[in-house]
Amino acid sequence: MIRERAYPVDPWHVREVRLDMDVLAQSESVFALSNGHVGLRGNLDEGEPHGLPGTYLNSFYELRPLPYAEAGFGFPESGQTIVNVTNGKLIRLLVDDEPLDVRYGEVLAHERVLDMRAGTLHRSLHWRSPAGREVRVNSTRLVSFRQRSVAAIRYEVEVADGKPLRLIIQSELVANETLPPQSRDPRVAAVLESPLQAEEELTTAAGGLLIHQTKVSGLRVAAAMDHEVTSPARTTIGSEGYEDWVRTTVGCVLAPGQKLEVVKYLTYGWSSRRSLPALRDQVGAALAAAKLDGWDGLVREQREYLDEFWDAADVVVDGDPEVQQAVRFGLFHVLQAGARAERRPISAKGLSGPGYDGHAFWDTEMFVLPVLTYTHPAAVRDALYWRYSTLEQARERARTLNLAGAAFPWRTIEGPESSGYWPAGTAAFHVAAGIADALRRYVLVTGDRDLEREIGLTLLVETARLWRSLGHHDRNGDFHVDGVTGPDEYTAVKNDNIYTNLMAQRNLRAAAEVAMRYRDEAFHLRVTDEEAAAWRDAAAAMHIPYDEELDVHEQVEGFTRLEEWDFEQTPPDKYPLLLHYPYFDLYRKQVVKQADLVLAMHWRGDAFTPEEKLRNFLYYERRTVRDSSLSACTQAVLAAEVGYPDLAHSYLREAALMDLHDLNENTRDGVHMASLAGAWIALVAGFGGLRDHDGVLSFAPRLSSRLNGLSFSLQWCGMRLRVDVRPHETTYDLHHAPPDAVIELRHHDKPVRVVCDEPVTVANPPPRTDLPASEQAPGRAPLLRLPEQPA
Ligand code: BGC
Repeated sequence: MIRERAYPVDPWHVREVRLDMDVLAQSESVFALSNGHVGLRGNLDEGEPHGLPGTYLNSFYELRPLPYAEAGFGFPESGQTIVNVTNGKLIRLLVDDEPLDVRYGEVLAHERVLDMRAGTLHRSLHWRSPAGREVRVNSTRLVSFRQRSVAAIRYEVEVADGKPLRLIIQSELVANETLPPQSRDPRVAAVLESPLQAEEELTTAAGGLLIHQTKVSGLRVAAAMDHEVTSPARTTIGSEGYEDWVRTTVGCVLAPGQKLEVVKYLTYGWSSRRSLPALRDQVGAALAAAKLDGWDGLVREQREYLDEFWDAADVVVDGDPEVQQAVRFGLFHVLQAGARAERRPISAKGLSGPGYDGHAFWDTEMFVLPVLTYTHPAAVRDALYWRYSTLEQARERARTLNLAGAAFPWRTIEGPESSGYWPAGTAAFHVAAGIADALRRYVLVTGDRDLEREIGLTLLVETARLWRSLGHHDRNGDFHVDGVTGPDEYTAVKNDNIYTNLMAQRNLRAAAEVAMRYRDEAFHLRVTDEEAAAWRDAAAAMHIPYDEELDVHEQVEGFTRLEEWDFEQTPPDKYPLLLHYPYFDLYRKQVVKQADLVLAMHWRGDAFTPEEKLRNFLYYERRTVRDSSLSACTQAVLAAEVGYPDLAHSYLREAALMDLHDLNENTRDGVHMASLAGAWIALVAGFGGLRDHDGVLSFAPRLSSRLNGLSFSLQWCGMRLRVDVRPHETTYDLHHAPPDAVIELRHHDKPVRVVCDEPVTVANPPPRTDLPASEQAPGRAPLLRLPEQPA
């Protein structure tokens, strides 16, 4: 685990002040740079030592067989795994006659800084070689937000002792790097041995390129580099290459205090269709474009892009500097995952590591997209188009499963189901309702009716058809969705999961409504009035399981009568339970991996009364172990809503600091995108109380005792709403809007009218003081618990 405060608290930077070899892989994920198209892990320039080398291109995958000891009909036979492509980050340095390697000699100073406003990773190193020669290395890298296939590194080396020094820089492209063996944790990726076949290698005086193809998926990747060298002394430069590597070598002798600077431009292109010459030209052109801007231009553009982003998306937290840093870190990674994904998936780890084989899950629609919808909606539009591009495969999957409509995959890169474990894969049909909800929210917040007509209607219709065929009316007319798995993966293949049913209900209603809005288009999809009526009927009759005796909702039918999990006999080292107990045992008992019913109370809060929310929250709190990083943020949201703001704050910290503190001890495989998005969700939906049920924007601000203030900005129909929460009052300010613009919102259930450029301040109700103490599952209190203070 990364020790607490491994990265000093700083509002806009993540700073590593000493190189800890034990957490190298973790810091590579934390310092990963990406634009959603290209991703570079934060490996050291010289490549070694490393935790896990990694360079990824969105949707560049290899296929691998999914073998089963006992297969069944409809089991997917092949899975997609993200490929570690050609490494272009490598810059090795020979200091006199010794390679710079921090495992040898002496590191006199080391610092790496992720600058979240500049969008760069800076490293400075003062190193003494075993022979006693000293150099200072300053390198800065970026993955451009403006030029999606471009990355660049400025590498500067200075003679730091009193004598002239011979320096050789070798800058490389290397394919098929050897990857370290992986653990047996099912959440890490499959290791692919040499997945790339060489097709072409080419060198120029100051650079070169490599083109490779995957063996089975047949995808082709080109990587190219070029260099600009600035040196005060005579310098040699040349390049050479072979199938899997290309190297440009720069050499010179510098006097004390002199500096050699190399700017490396790096570009990637990949395609399943384009010819080799076309790809060669593509990366050549991208290199030319990058050089046209030059290093300074790339840095400037990066800053401008981020200035715009932060202007619209920043969250200011007054009272918890760690959370302040972490929420920006989370937003930065969420942006990095989605900014230029452009109709390709936003996966659970973004492009920061190979965890979960690079797959996208429901995490995208239910955790990442809500954040981007309110902060950077253009990326959501693209992400919805990505889902739409997989529709044919989802229809095919539904047919295989003997269902109507479209069955979207539990995990995938390009569309096919890549989960081989159906109880927590195919059976988790709720992914469909998540897509429908993300779509609804996007259209509500942006007013983008074109997208609704173009793809929204079809997505809603096909998901509604899925629900209608998956569920059935019983003899009393009640509608049930049986044999499915909800978000809680410790409860599988059960009847009437409440989250699934409530989300499906909204999905069915939305489909009926949108089909009426676009009658011609709906006609082309063969939607009849009878079909739309059937969706409405199913929604109206949706069964919502409730235990009358305990007066709580049931997560699934019969949940509350299952045997209780024996928490007293579960030692701390047996978590996560999935690595220590058979699923069969987990499935039979009242133990909850991650917020499920509690998640339903967030996204379908309109379906519960405040009293029900409180009772349910307390009941499930006692049984939830948070073995998934997708839980803490939701628990924060509901804890805040039902009246436990300090508990909410503890959960917020857990979600926000998941990767900066490596709380789940698997940040090495990539950052937890949903949890990072969850920091924003916990703040904005938790302490801000943001909800958008039924198309109404509403807030219910309440801060924890630790916070003095919270402000955030939301995009709303092209305008910006700034919400500034103080302990006793909240100010709403509408700006970037036409002069006559107005938003009608709700503040703690009361209507508030906000006119452009006329901030409105309203009082927050006093916090509740009449609540019983909340109790967590024994041994499962929030990981970063704050001392609770009386309200
Ligand atoms: C969670 C899933 C999630 C997946 C990827 C699992 O541990 O239970 O809900 O989709 O991780 O983040």
